[in-house]
Amino acid sequence: MLYPQAQTQAEITANLASVRERIAAACARAGRLPDSVRLLPVSKTVDQSRIRMAYAAGCRVFGENKVQEVQQKWQEMADLGDVDWVVIGHLQTNKVKVVAKMAREFQALDSLRVAEALEQRLQLEGRTLDVLVQINTSDEASKYGLHPDVAASFVQQLRQFPSLRVKGLMTLAVLSTDAERVRACFVRLRELRDRLRIDLPPGMHMDELSMGMSGDFEIAIEEGATVVRVGQALFGARALPHHHYWPNQALTQEHTQ
Ligand SMILES: *Cc1c(COP(=O)(O)O)cnc(C)c1O
Repeated sequence: MLYPQAQTQAEITANLASVRERIAAACARAGRLPDSVRLLPVSKTVDQSRIRMAYAAGCRVFGENKVQEVQQKWQEMADLGDVDWVVIGHLQTNKVKVVAKMAREFQALDSLRVAEALEQRLQLEGRTLDVLVQINTSDEASKYGLHPDVAASFVQQLRQFPSLRVKGLMTLAVLSTDAERVRACFVRLRELRDRLRIDLPPGMHMDELSMGMSGDFEIAIEEGATVVRVGQALFGARALPHHHYWPNQALTQEHTQ
């Protein structure tokens, strides 16, 4: 499905309402309360003027994939005052400084080196950062995210980093038109979260499941998502395909877009 470009305030407001309705409907089908799912609007590649329209429509948090882009937008839109930025893309240690300074949440933690570098910078900034651990639930599709088998020991090691407030797990499902293959990724993340919860370091919580995007967020909600990351259904189709943002996914055969 190709989402039409949303250029005007009316279009963005209408798209937001429609995504919220779809979230509510998926919650109802799954017997969940509508406020048990957070919408994270994903604004990568979206320019400042359209992000401001989303703000005017009620959005107060935005997800971005690339550090340079989120830094620029954070500076350009500082006048708004009450926007939170969430980094949802892979991070290199040389970029942690910006994230430690300005992000409220980082959803793609998958390396202890990055965790350690973030901890050092956060201590200097006197800040904490909510983090989700990214898990590769589709095996073949992405080079990012931890294999589920190593997640337990990874999470135990995160207790060395008190400035990182571990909240849960994040995944990207396989990019497939086969809904059952997509669903299997979400089930895998939920089951992993449930297992990890049994033996967490003291004080650590593991409630959040960030899973589902424009093409699959309803399935994710049926399988327990607490955060859905939605870009194109709000702002319109992006020029660049998904594999531009997630290297190696170019290798899978069944892109939905
Ligand atoms: C871009 C992106 C999304 C949103 O994808 P849409 O198809 O725009 O909804 C979700 N998660 C991550 C990690 C992304 O990079």
